[in-house]
Amino acid sequence: MKSMHSIDISTVEMTLDIMKYAINRISNTSPDLGSPKKEEDLFAIVGETVTKEGIGGEKAFHMFRDVLAKATVPVDHPRHLAFVPAAPTKAAVLFDLVTSAASIHGAYWMTGGGGIFCENQAMKWLVSLTGLPEGAFGVFTSGGTAANLSAMIAAREAWRKKEEENKAFKALLITSSGAHSSVKSMANVMDADIVIVDDDDEDRLTGKWLQNTIDNLGAIDRKRLFAVVATGGTTNAGIIDELDSVADVCEKENLWFHVDAAYGGGALAAPSVRDLFIGIERADSITIDPHKWMFSPYDCGAVIYKDIELAKNAHSQKGAYLDIFKDEGAQGFNPSDYQIQLT
Ligand SMILES: *Cc1c(COP(=O)(O)O)cnc(C)c1O
Repeated sequence: MKSMHSIDISTVEMTLDIMKYAINRISNTSPDLGSPKKEEDLFAIVGETVTKEGIGGEKAFHMFRDVLAKATVPVDHPRHLAFVPAAPTKAAVLFDLVTSAASIHGAYWMTGGGGIFCENQAMKWLVSLTGLPEGAFGVFTSGGTAANLSAMIAAREAWRKKEEENKAFKALLITSSGAHSSVKSMANVMDADIVIVDDDDEDRLTGKWLQNTIDNLGAIDRKRLFAVVATGGTTNAGIIDELDSVADVCEKENLWFHVDAAYGGGALAAPSVRDLFIGIERADSITIDPHKWMFSPYDCGAVIYKDIELAKNAHSQKGAYLDIFKDEGAQGFNPSDYQIQLT
């Protein structure tokens, strides 16, 4: 194997080719739309790529550029209205290159301190948009699904710690019919049950409808109930639940109040619609996806907690090989302590 320090001419040429492609692609505001192709059609052109001899970096890059990238639908196309788009800025994509090249492991301050400092600056701004009180903070995740799951695991842990008998119950959460499909998957993953509230006439979850639903629960179900998931901008229609009245009910009923603003969270920065989110500042946790309406490239989600220590109780991983990261002298903010992912 060649030493990493001896770079031959063909490697330099390939690197320049790749950089040229990246610069052109970043500057291209109207990329070809491309179209999906059947796997067998792609295979007929590309063939087997993982071979004993290896196909080489240059061939791999050319196949990607000339064939495979064209079999994708780029989500930053200006006419890309069919799906939830990502619209990363040039600066964000360029810095994605920079952080990849810098090879940072961001789970622990010991190895990732400088990178985590940057994340925390961005997080401070994100938290400031929500209006959550002093002490609220969060971490970045791979996306909204991981953020919602992290928040609900923290919520269930807090609920279980509150009363010993809660440990015996299968947890139950309430959400609305407009909630994102990932809320159901998340409940499956954590083996919790879901009750779906009938929305009001405008398809919004309101405190009144939430209270009706809670009042109609049987005694055991009421004991199992630990959280409410409201939506700050449904993915289909952008509908924002009546967060303030939902917060009233959660407070009265002593329930964890989560707002899934994965899609709509970007609108917190828009004075024209900010008042639609009144009540979000009373949430126990909030999900926002910077890779949707905040101009980050995939993948970048975020989970924010009113009391971040509650998240640490649920998520801090322990293991012999991890202890060195928590040595004296390596003290700092460890993002992995606050959500389900490590790296
Ligand atoms: C997109 C979305 C999610 C899921 O987020 P991913 O980043 O795709 O994991 C969850 N909730 C809402 C409201 C969404 O719009």
